[in-house]
Amino acid sequence: MERFETDVVVIGAGAVGLAVARSLALAGRDVMVLEAASGIATETSSRNSEVIHAGLYYPSGSLKARLCVRGRRLLYEYCERRGIEARACGKFVVAVTDAEAEAVPGLLARARANEVEDLSVITGEEARRIEPALSRNVRMVLVSPVSGIFDSHAYFLSLQGEIEDRGGAVVFETPVVRGRVKEDGLELETGGASPVRISARAVINSAGHRALDIARAIDGGPQYPGLKMRWVKGSYFSASGPPPFSRLIYPMHNSASLGLHLSVDLAGRTRLGPDAEWLDETVSPPFDYSVDPARAELCYAEVRRYWPGLPDGAIAPDYSGVRPKIVGPGEAPGDFLIDGPERHRVQGLVNLIAIESPGLTSSLAIGDWVTGLLNVR
Ligand SMILES: Cc1cc2nc3c(=O)[nH]c(=O)nc-3n(C[C@H](O)[C@H](O)[C@H](O)COP(=O)(O)OP(=O)(O)OC[C@H]3O[C@@H](n4cnc5c(N)ncnc54)[C@H](O)[C@@H]3O)c2cc1C
Repeated sequence: MERFETDVVVIGAGAVGLAVARSLALAGRDVMVLEAASGIATETSSRNSEVIHAGLYYPSGSLKARLCVRGRRLLYEYCERRGIEARACGKFVVAVTDAEAEAVPGLLARARANEVEDLSVITGEEARRIEPALSRNVRMVLVSPVSGIFDSHAYFLSLQGEIEDRGGAVVFETPVVRGRVKEDGLELETGGASPVRISARAVINSAGHRALDIARAIDGGPQYPGLKMRWVKGSYFSASGPPPFSRLIYPMHNSASLGLHLSVDLAGRTRLGPDAEWLDETVSPPFDYSVDPARAELCYAEVRRYWPGLPDGAIAPDYSGVRPKIVGPGEAPGDFLIDGPERHRVQGLVNLIAIESPGLTSSLAIGDWVTGLLNVR
């Protein structure tokens, strides 16, 4: 088996792996990204809402809160600088029931604690003057002007370009199958058509759904006893006709997801979803990403709570994604698990596990965070 040596290996070329690799490359590290698929961002990074989250929901001080707020600011700046389309179209979080309306001040306080800018709360009537298609049942709305949408695929290409401009490489069809900790770094073994062994001073495991499996396949690395991945599938539907709103419309959230929301993408298409379906504990990746047309019922019901004008027959199954979670149904939403040498004591190894939403928004901040964990030379 052929052997190579390099400075840093990043496993996985999704949004997070690419952003980490870019940050390390900018810090002067020699980076190789190993990707199992034949292209960048073919998994969760291309199966999401493409929403730039403000950072409203996450407990103050959590990694999600800190990295989302910082990542959002960095992402808007990055898109501006690199000519990537991004639009801070704003977001309404709408409360329909008494219980939802009572929860709005708590959400506002949490978002303010996270230092989200320019928030306000308006009545349903005020909201309907701005977005006339909103239901008369909407009683209260949290307004977040800094939430937005962007062209995530242009973003991924730009990250790849920056990595390569700095002498780094993104290598496809090269799945990492196992590894071991050595005295001066780590050694990885790849599968695929031409298996190789690669020695690296540092390894960043950003393998998305497979990250926990990969961590456990590294001999001498942390094994995370008791940790179990749970999967929540989110299916999307597209709605025909002109977009009914000019902002993102989100219901008040629940613990598994941010609620079945409505977004209008940069091309003006109306997207409804994702819903939240806990997959059976026996299911593991690769996932079935087909969208069950029967889930349209639920989509109509949820969306009509805030958009009663959604016509019968207007929606069609679109695509789906799967959220990687380390908590189970009914439990409080977990945080990102970013586990570096300061915690597990293996020099040069960082595992990124359960990087669910808002991972896309947070990606640039995660990149800088991981670079910091490695104590750049
Ligand atoms: C339904 C849904 C909606 C979402 N909406 C939003 C949103 O609007 N805004 C937001 O900020 N976030 C959102 N997210 C979260 C966001 O999409 C993810 O946090 C982010 O894409 C995760 O990126 P990643 O690089 O960690 O994972 P991935 O994109 O899954 O990338 C992991 C990569 O690792 C590769 N890989 C796996 N195993 C191996 C191996 N053995 N060797 C080499 N490579 C390997 C895979 O092929 C893949 O390319 C959403 C997520 C879901 C599921």
